[in-house]
Amino acid sequence: MKERLEEIKTKGLEKIENAKTLVELEEVKKDLTGKKSKLAEVFKNMGSLSADEKKSVGMLTTEIKNVFAEKLSRKEEEIISNMSVLDRPIDITIPGAPVKSGALHPITQMRNDLNEAFASLGFEVYTEDDISSEKYAFDNLNFAKDHPARQSMDTYWIEGTEDKEGAERLCLKPHLTGGSVRYLLKHGAPARFVYPGKVFRNETTDARHERAFYQYEALIVDKDISFSSGMVMIQTILEKVFGKKINTRMREGFFPFTEPGYEIDMECLVCGGVGCKVCNHNGWIEVMPGGVIHPNVLKSAGLNPDEWTGFYINIGLDRLVMMRYGVDDVRLFHSSDLRFLKEFK
Ligand SMILES: [Zn+2]
Repeated sequence: MKERLEEIKTKGLEKIENAKTLVELEEVKKDLTGKKSKLAEVFKNMGSLSADEKKSVGMLTTEIKNVFAEKLSRKEEEIISNMSVLDRPIDITIPGAPVKSGALHPITQMRNDLNEAFASLGFEVYTEDDISSEKYAFDNLNFAKDHPARQSMDTYWIEGTEDKEGAERLCLKPHLTGGSVRYLLKHGAPARFVYPGKVFRNETTDARHERAFYQYEALIVDKDISFSSGMVMIQTILEKVFGKKINTRMREGFFPFTEPGYEIDMECLVCGGVGCKVCNHNGWIEVMPGGVIHPNVLKSAGLNPDEWTGFYINIGLDRLVMMRYGVDDVRLFHSSDLRFLKEFK
């Protein structure tokens, strides 16, 4: 009996090994382990055996069954792995794997929304490098020689150029405004363009300040730009971005490159104007310095101030994002913490 079983085992394993396709393998499986298989026959005829024989034959039969099962499953894997992906069996009952999708950073999203809002008003999008020079960051923009922003405590100067002057003294862009003169020198007037980008300040970080942050500046230069048309433009942009009318107020501001300059505050959307950490507990947040372009800046750009006038808007992107989502700490947006950023998908 044992010999008979050994023979069944050897021939069975041979058949499994020779199967070439899944269909063939299925046939072999039926043949070796089905109700009409030789193993099943042996089992059926065990009645005439002694108790000891029954035991050993039973054990051997079970062992052979297990060997067949293991070999069959290994052969199946082997056949499948050699098949073209297109021919492999597909189990449509298995739940699909969820598709992981990324999302735009909230600041990028805000920048895109602003680009779209400005583009609808005919503005071109312009970009500049992160490294600028004293000439473009300060000289062209009517900054006095002793202006504090020129000091190392505010601006990151590039090592090795500290002792130089003008175009040779390099720095990380402390603001975007330098790009306005660069654009005008290249394209002339009339012009309407936005120039979003990252700017760098050498300052202590807190809930509203970062060493590197995003700004968004827009400039319109034409022969007849009135102050009120600038204000209407600001209202239109804010309304497009926030999808509702936003309360704003204007205060006098001073910037070397404007005359007159102003500060546009918007009502704090984090606290609804009641007062919170973000708005320094006064219900308003400064989001948009700007003003009428200074005649000296027009001259730097090769334009005649008697002929041309213009209007700057500088938008604090980080602050608009804080307002949009009601987040009260600007540093979270730069933390690269996906647990935080995923909240905005
Ligand atoms: Zn507030």
